[in-house]
Amino acid sequence: MKKDQIIELDVTDLNNLGCGVGRYEGMVVFVKGAVAGDRVRAKVIKVNKSFSAARLEEILTSSPVRLADDPCRAPLACGGCVYRHITYDEELRLKREYVKNAFKKAGLADVSVLPTLSTGRICGYRNKGQYPVTATKQGLRAGFFAQKSHNIIPADGCAIQNASFAPIVGFVCEFGSTHGWSAYDEETGKGLLRHIYLRVGEKTGEIMLCLVINGDALPDSKEFCEAVRIKFPAVVSLMINVNKKNTNVVLGERFVTLSGKSYIEDELCSLRFKISPDSFYQVNRDGAELLYNAARERAALTGKEVLMDLYCGTGTIGLSMAKNAKKLCGVEIVGAAVECARENARQNGIANAEFFCDDAGDRDVILKAAGGIRPDVVVIDPPRKGSTRALAETLASLGVPRIVYVSCDADTLARDCTWFDELGYEIGEVLPVDMFPRTGHVESVVCLTRK
Ligand code: SAH
Repeated sequence: MKKDQIIELDVTDLNNLGCGVGRYEGMVVFVKGAVAGDRVRAKVIKVNKSFSAARLEEILTSSPVRLADDPCRAPLACGGCVYRHITYDEELRLKREYVKNAFKKAGLADVSVLPTLSTGRICGYRNKGQYPVTATKQGLRAGFFAQKSHNIIPADGCAIQNASFAPIVGFVCEFGSTHGWSAYDEETGKGLLRHIYLRVGEKTGEIMLCLVINGDALPDSKEFCEAVRIKFPAVVSLMINVNKKNTNVVLGERFVTLSGKSYIEDELCSLRFKISPDSFYQVNRDGAELLYNAARERAALTGKEVLMDLYCGTGTIGLSMAKNAKKLCGVEIVGAAVECARENARQNGIANAEFFCDDAGDRDVILKAAGGIRPDVVVIDPPRKGSTRALAETLASLGVPRIVYVSCDADTLARDCTWFDELGYEIGEVLPVDMFPRTGHVESVVCLTRK
């Protein structure tokens, strides 16, 4: 096989990076935009020892799982929604297969994986957007970075974002362009406006608009606030974030409230949560309810238990279960999130909860947070890199009877389950929950029971 060669092949798989996978003369070929079941004509763009990559030229026979009417208007280069070309049923099936494979690879092929649970809503579910801003001949533009590049794809084509975001992004660009705001340039480190950051509380309808700027103040800020107030009354929090560092981390440390509140609120599992711009909140609210309900079922609380919520963020999982527990203690490493968790407990009248700002992977921290007693149920929800062997050993040595593991990465979940398996825990049925429809990510929840 040679570069630029035109080949025809049957596509037999779709990986979680959105590449169709097939074989040509025995060699594995990745074709972006092709899906399992297609027969395609493609142009070879890269030849490696064990695989090649080719660009889709023509679909000769269309797969039955190919979606007839893709609601997404973004160009293929966006790369965010790797499953945009296939039916949602097929996506849910692939996500279950992905989780199954992760356990198989970890040597736990016997673990059973349930069908993927979903709210069924695949459009407009994202409640958070961060749009980089760039200068063009037509004025300021904001959107998403195309995969592996810094070309901006317009915000208004995206089908998974909350529908209220694109008009606000358009307005900010228009206002900025007519008022001479400059766009930040990564190369030179000059220019003002870096990102337009939006969050919405779907249940309350409250929107936060935060402009990330390379400067200490926003010019024309009074006029801007007034214009936003009139045009977008749902924006109850208008802020700036100061980020003067030459970095691709979106947010700097300092926030300034220009008008309204410094946070928005949302309702989740019948509780009301404050969301500050720098704290973690699940991007799919309805999906989070599904996930938390699944975790709650597995926790099987009766009101007598000491419940521990590790990697608790703003405390949402633990607080949604607190009324069924005797006591809740949460551990989270980000100070601002712990403050939010305490505030969330107060504002919902939950008096049996305590939150600690510390490393959940540390044995002494766990022992201290539990107040010297053995927790009955521990929920863990670590970031993608998973938990630690030390944590698994600590929970096992304490003899914790039940652990509910919530995970956003099936590979690290499966690895961590091998530790719990060795430490004498039975691994329950794994439930994949689709919190991020159309993207390659899948959340899972599983109950580990001490044998
Ligand atoms: N359970 C929460 C948050 C999950 S995200 C929810 O559902 O909203 C994972 C969280 O783990 C983040 O808030 C992150 O700040 C926190 N975290 C990361 N490493 C940690 C550590 N070593 N100890 C405690 N918390 C940690």
